Amino acid sequence: MVKAEISRKAADFFLKNIDMLIEKPVRFMEVCGTHTVSIFRSGIRQMLPEKVELVSGPGCPVCVTPNDYMDTAIAYAKNENVIIATFGDMLKVPGTSTSLYAVKAAGADVRIVYSPLDALQLAVGEPAKKVIFLAVGFETTAPLTAATIQAAQNQAIENFFVLSAHKWTNEALNALLSDPEIKVDGFLLPGHVCVITGEEPFHFVAEKYKKPAVVAGFEALDILQAVYMLAKQVHAGQAKVENAYKRVVKTQGNPAAQEMMAAVFQKTAANWRGLGKIENSGMAVNENYARYDALRSIPVQKELSKENPACRCGEVLKGNIRPVQCPLFKKICTPEHPAGACMVSVEGTCHAWYKYGQGR
Ligand code: SF4
Repeated sequence: MVKAEISRKAADFFLKNIDMLIEKPVRFMEVCGTHTVSIFRSGIRQMLPEKVELVSGPGCPVCVTPNDYMDTAIAYAKNENVIIATFGDMLKVPGTSTSLYAVKAAGADVRIVYSPLDALQLAVGEPAKKVIFLAVGFETTAPLTAATIQAAQNQAIENFFVLSAHKWTNEALNALLSDPEIKVDGFLLPGHVCVITGEEPFHFVAEKYKKPAVVAGFEALDILQAVYMLAKQVHAGQAKVENAYKRVVKTQGNPAAQEMMAAVFQKTAANWRGLGKIENSGMAVNENYARYDALRSIPVQKELSKENPACRCGEVLKGNIRPVQCPLFKKICTPEHPAGACMVSVEGTCHAWYKYGQGR
């Protein structure tokens, strides 16, 4: 049997059984932005029975980065002794009154890099400047930032700094679940994050909140299988954390990457766009590496931060509304001219709805 035929039969099996197992309407949240994109690309929303609704969660790192962080980065960019090194996505994220893209166009030295190691190399090549890497992302990208900070120390590179917005996804889920307004019946857990963390940090979803959760991969069949496993739990009245991505995610995760993060970062309260301040959800550079922390090493004066009151990104990230319910969607807010962070990144929910259509 050719692969496509096997895949079709497997998809049919999952869809038929999801339909049989789910008796009344349920909402499952995909926590990860990469899942959101895969779900849209493969048309899974339309394939699932109407009683199964998939909503997107706070798993797009660019989307959850608040104006406060962008304003700080922009203020640093205006310092003529500073080079900002950033992933390209961050350029268009609106701050309170401007963006990195606009200040770059006005002459600020903002460079696009593809990894923190690129930023470190930039620092080596520009010894007269202070290079600040915008460290945005979850447990997937934080180990590489930690390794780069350690490399900077080992190589005695003194003009490399990090502005950390790294975050712990499990703490965001904890905050989300403690909000009584959140109506979600189960979670597709982020496969990439769990590769690093393992399953244990998400056990609270089942133990404390009695919600089923399944670690999911990123192919269409991976996602359908995870939804099927959620459906089985819902049908049986169970709540446990299961792993549908065992070919990649080990129960204990990646201990070496965990040790790297623990060596360089400490837990701190962090601001999440839409979710507000969440205790212990941020990764701040710890005392041992304090000289690489931009905030502690380079003074900065930024504007008073305010969120755009018309942007409903926060409610989108909590799964409370769909992007089409935002009055700016497609009218004022587009990927070319985003009014909010959820429209900027390809993993942003508003971006996905714009690009792939509204689905259900
Ligand atoms: Fe914010 Fe734009 Fe999404 Fe509306 S469509 S919630 S303005 S990002």
